[in-house]
Amino acid sequence: MLSQQENLCPKCHSAGALRSKLIMLGTALTEEQQFKRVNFEGYTQVDALTADEVRDEFLLPHLPKQYVNGFFCETCHVGFVPDFYLKENNRFKR
Ligand SMILES: [Zn+2]
Repeated sequence: MLSQQENLCPKCHSAGALRSKLIMLGTALTEEQQFKRVNFEGYTQVDALTADEVRDEFLLPHLPKQYVNGFFCETCHVGFVPDFYLKENNRFKR
């Protein structure tokens, strides 16, 4: 079930200091780039969300498919995108 209560800062787990913010996503990686990252560069991408991981309805029209209306925590100075913006297969892995 989708819930607005998922809009909590991933760091302080509070909604008290949140404001909306336009979040720029990384451009989608090709499968080859992802393979290289995991197998040669030694890490999986966990911090930078890419456009292909976000459900199409949350990507803003009229802009390159790289922006969503996300949130920013004034306390922690982190920008984030709520989990429910993500496609099913990208949840829980971050
Ligand atoms: Zn916070």
